[in-house]
Amino acid sequence: MSLDDGGGESAEGRIGILKESDREVYELVKKDGFEGYHKGLFGALAEADVEVYELVEREYERLGNTLILQAAENRSSRAVLAALGSVVQDKTAEGFAGARMHGGCAVVDEIERLAISRAKEAFGAKYANVQPHSGTAANQVVITAVLESGDKILSLGPGHGGHYSHGASVSFTGKFFEVDNYFVDEESFLLDYEAVRKKAAEFGPRLIICGASTYSRVIDFGKFREIADSVGAYLMADISHISGLVMAGAHPSPIEFADFTTTSTYKPGGPRGGLILMGEAYDRKVEVRGEEKAMLEHIEAATFPGMQGTIYLNHIAAKAVFFKEALSEEYKSRQFRIIENSRRLAGGLAGLGYDVVTGGTDNHLFLVNVANSREGLTGVIAQKALEECGIVVDMVGLPYDNRPAGIGSGVRFGTPIITRMGMGDDEMDKIAGMVDAVLREVVIVSESEYRINESFRDRMRGQVRDFCRGLGAG
Ligand SMILES: *Cc1c(COP(=O)(O)O)cnc(C)c1O
Repeated sequence: MSLDDGGGESAEGRIGILKESDREVYELVKKDGFEGYHKGLFGALAEADVEVYELVEREYERLGNTLILQAAENRSSRAVLAALGSVVQDKTAEGFAGARMHGGCAVVDEIERLAISRAKEAFGAKYANVQPHSGTAANQVVITAVLESGDKILSLGPGHGGHYSHGASVSFTGKFFEVDNYFVDEESFLLDYEAVRKKAAEFGPRLIICGASTYSRVIDFGKFREIADSVGAYLMADISHISGLVMAGAHPSPIEFADFTTTSTYKPGGPRGGLILMGEAYDRKVEVRGEEKAMLEHIEAATFPGMQGTIYLNHIAAKAVFFKEALSEEYKSRQFRIIENSRRLAGGLAGLGYDVVTGGTDNHLFLVNVANSREGLTGVIAQKALEECGIVVDMVGLPYDNRPAGIGSGVRFGTPIITRMGMGDDEMDKIAGMVDAVLREVVIVSESEYRINESFRDRMRGQVRDFCRGLGAG
């Protein structure tokens, strides 16, 4: 495997890919560029900085030789990488298409408009803001757009699936707002909508946040809407993890239920970045800090100059490329396959005696309580031992888990990348067997220390590498 079959195409190759797969974005990138710059884009890195070049190459090798079962990662297309690495990155612009603070924006205005119209189409939304630098930034924009400092936020508790940017005390969202949490049911680990309703009535939040990083079941956005209406709160749905499924119709959409829908754009397989969407009510007039204006105007003012300065136009070009991909049948059917693979792998592990949290999954991820599965095993040991053997997962704390952060009782498995590599039922069964083989081989020393037989480890690593290569992992 060489860099050339993946992200590191020669410059002409990279731009050629964009030309083939996305003519519209290609034309725009081309207009803003100059040919010579593209020649040897990746070669230029090798020439100028062999240290970084070699690190990039090592990362590329790692991606190709390991089995990545992480739920929060995906693999972007070469066309997305080409747009990210284009000269559009050099353009400085503030403000929104048609209302910039800088000159020379005619082409990038078209790029932003294209990204917006494709995002709206992909999500069935009436409004899209493609400017947030990340999912966290998208949440910050919404929160500062509609809340005044000291206002109340009700969100899913950390450790139960809520994200830091939903008001964790360590995040700015927890420092300037009054935050309370709802939790999953203690027995079933499922969202308990009655408990959310009660908490909302007692607390009286101005904003309710739903959406999670470690929840494997369907989220009922309609129920959250009813609860928000019952207390006169805004509803924000953060679908960072499931937005690919939502675009494909493999998970119900929050667009018409939530006032604001936010997502990261890399988790569903696009470039790093964030997105804010709204449904029919995007131009409803609301008052914030004594100022009445349309919701979109509040959102845009909070984006710039509220939260961000100049925008990442190369990322916006790459978002445009990605939303076009997301509209394809290949992408949509892959999202259903991701869920089938997730169910198959969870079922395989359950069959081998592992405690799958909530008993299964409806989406791209599932959690295993490894501490319940084997005496003495913890999340951190499982993660480290698996990684030594070439299998990459994330340890997680589980709801009502009283182990210290950094140890955890759980592991989160996700299937976006292995599905992207073309894997199906047979591979899921093999992966379940490999995970089990590693976890059975581990000799537990303490909560965070373990030993593993070196020849077993080397054999396993080779087996994983062959398994990935057999599928053309690059
Ligand atoms: C990953 C994630 C985010 C953060 O996105 P970044 O782009 O990494 O900032 C926000 N919310 C949820 C629910 C997430 O899972």
